[in-house]
Amino acid sequence: MRGVPGAFVDLLVHQQNRVSPSRLLPSLLLPEAFNMEHAREVVRYLEHCIFVLDSHETAVHNYLLYLYSSLYPEKLLTYLENQGDSILEVNFDPRYALTVCQEAGHDQACVRLYSIQGLHEEAVDLALKTDIDLAKSMANKPKENESMCKKLWLKIAKHVVQEEKDIGRAMEVLQESGLIKIEDILPFFPDFVTIDQFKDAICASLEDYNRHMHELQEEMEEATGSTERIRKEISKLKNKPFVIKGNEKCENCGVPAMMRAFYAFPCSHFFHQDCLVDQVLPHLHGPSKSKVEDLQVNSIVPFPTSVPDGCTKPSS
Ligand SMILES: [Zn+2]
Ligand SMILES: [Zn+2]
Repeated sequence: MRGVPGAFVDLLVHQQNRVSPSRLLPSLLLPEAFNMEHAREVVRYLEHCIFVLDSHETAVHNYLLYLYSSLYPEKLLTYLENQGDSILEVNFDPRYALTVCQEAGHDQACVRLYSIQGLHEEAVDLALKTDIDLAKSMANKPKENESMCKKLWLKIAKHVVQEEKDIGRAMEVLQESGLIKIEDILPFFPDFVTIDQFKDAICASLEDYNRHMHELQEEMEEATGSTERIRKEISKLKNKPFVIKGNEKCENCGVPAMMRAFYAFPCSHFFHQDCLVDQVLPHLHGPSKSKVEDLQVNSIVPFPTSVPDGCTKPSS
């Protein structure tokens, strides 16, 4: 390898899958004093393993990432992007990769690596030092966690207000985030900022609240209306006269209802008192149960004021 790296790598490439790249790694390690031709050939072989032979071996990926980081940083970000966003997808060891990129000072790569490991706040903090657009894209990564997204967008807004002192851009951040409101970022502004600069944002926010309150009010009125309707219906039912035919039968036992004390429901269902109690008791607990037992003993059962759920007259 050291003598004729090009020819050696040609030979390896020719072998396709017959040699295991990870077992070859010791012979691919660059000596302390290497020349660029040697390094280029090692990278060529590793790229062949990963991009042509589709190797998923962590050691192979780690080594290529290390060589990219130290010798070909321009290839690093593309490689990381192609590896995906999920810690489950990437073939390299994310913690090793982070150490390598931190030592080499590749901030953008570190941002990605933080994000892959779910360290979203670290990702945004670091991105804000180099590239605000990168920070914005990182702030949208934890899609399933809205409160985390909001926290990240607040970091960006705070940075724009306090570091860049740019109120216009702060307003843009508000709109882009779709999550933070003017009142969330007001505390970041210095006292001397005049209100003129946020007049529009404050007005929009107030209108938003106004609309929301209006909606709530309408909902409340609707709820009050339907409560009133239900109350009227119940009191109407209380006084509804019934014509009961002699052959009406108990829904439970099929014996004519008139044979014993019975209940007549507004939906034209009839139950003997004892039949109904037998049906209902197993579903009751605590005070409701003792109340029914009480009524049963005293046999003074008032007419029911509500229709049991799901009770409809069979079509027969
Ligand atoms: Zn019965
Ligand atoms: Zn019924």
